[in-house]
Amino acid sequence: MTYLIKNARILGGDPADIQLRDGVITEIGTGLSGGVEIDATGLIALPGLVDLHTHLREPGREDAETVESGTRAAALGGFTAVHAMANTSPVADTAGVVEQVWRLGQETGVCDVRPVGAVTVGLGGERLAELGAMADSAARVRVFSDDGKCVSDAVLMRRALEYVKAFDGVIAQHAQEPRLTEAAQMNEGAVSGRLGLTGWPAVAEEAIIARDCLLAAHVGSRLHICHVSTAGSVEIIRWAKSKGWNVTAEVTPHHLLLTDDLIENSPVGSYNPIYKVNPPLRTADDVRALREALADGTIDCVATDHAPHPVEDKESEWGAAAMGMIGLETALSVVQESMVETGLLDWAGVADRMSARPARIGRVEGHGMPLAAGSTASIVLYDPVPRVPVEPHGFASKSRNTPYEGLSLPGRVVATFLRGRPTVLEGKLA
Ligand SMILES: [Zn+2]
Repeated sequence: MTYLIKNARILGGDPADIQLRDGVITEIGTGLSGGVEIDATGLIALPGLVDLHTHLREPGREDAETVESGTRAAALGGFTAVHAMANTSPVADTAGVVEQVWRLGQETGVCDVRPVGAVTVGLGGERLAELGAMADSAARVRVFSDDGKCVSDAVLMRRALEYVKAFDGVIAQHAQEPRLTEAAQMNEGAVSGRLGLTGWPAVAEEAIIARDCLLAAHVGSRLHICHVSTAGSVEIIRWAKSKGWNVTAEVTPHHLLLTDDLIENSPVGSYNPIYKVNPPLRTADDVRALREALADGTIDCVATDHAPHPVEDKESEWGAAAMGMIGLETALSVVQESMVETGLLDWAGVADRMSARPARIGRVEGHGMPLAAGSTASIVLYDPVPRVPVEPHGFASKSRNTPYEGLSLPGRVVATFLRGRPTVLEGKLA
């Protein structure tokens, strides 16, 4: 099938036509003809988005999400590849489990699924998992993470960093010093003091990031830092990068937009667990620093940390509620709101931070390529104009724990193509 996308604004530039055939972009120009025409007048064309951090919950918590439902949500959000986090049940800590997730992706996924392998057996933080076997498996794992938990043992972290060098892997650290965050409920600061909730200090994140940057430099390996949430973390990463160390970092859409005072006072009341997330929402100063860091490249990319939970795990009292938010179907709109509308990033910058860089960090072949003849035809068509209230009941995700319900966000994904095949057309699954 040949498709001809007419009058798309590539990376927000002047209108042009894009022809897709046999999975690749065959031609870009004006006045092209030939193929099934898709009118993209007024739409922005971006390369298919790549998420380094998605919780698909399968195997084990299919009530929250499955590979099928999660990848449908991803496609509707403009993603063509997602990394499936390892904290499933069983944990993705062997070649067998990562191959199971990879196969599920092949069979039921509407975007590419790249399994993340656990760093330690059962996320237990005591013994290294079979990193080499996962790397050599059919899933060809390159990103390893105990996400949800921190690899807090410095010796294990050092060994993991050393081990993945052999196959160009990367350790993605969930930076949370466990002793400093025992029973922590929200960001430690003025709001936690007023609400009487146990604080989650910024230093618990920053201390691990500083330690791991030093370890990565010491052994000459690749470190990726998950969901950076504090201004201090940004300063440490900026310093590590200035040394030329191989450190990359991501920020979530919610940490670019939301602050901890929503827990005290928001349209949905106070103590609403919809805002309970790990790492916690921080202050307006942190949000400002994260936006600036994403704009100047200190933070390399946006990653959703899409964390689906069933209603009963989220709609309880604050202390008992699960931590996490879904994010695949709103990510691009939140990035538009926080980064584009504020003038911090243009659409070429969005493509870089949400496609090219995450693909490079995850070593995802065939994704994150420039929109040019010869590239893989994985493309999003996005309408930045409409501003509509977020309506979670229309989501493809099995879960509804979005912090944006009722909030108006800009933009809408109109179409997504994966290797020349539409996965979304006219805003709906194709
Ligand atoms: Zn995490």
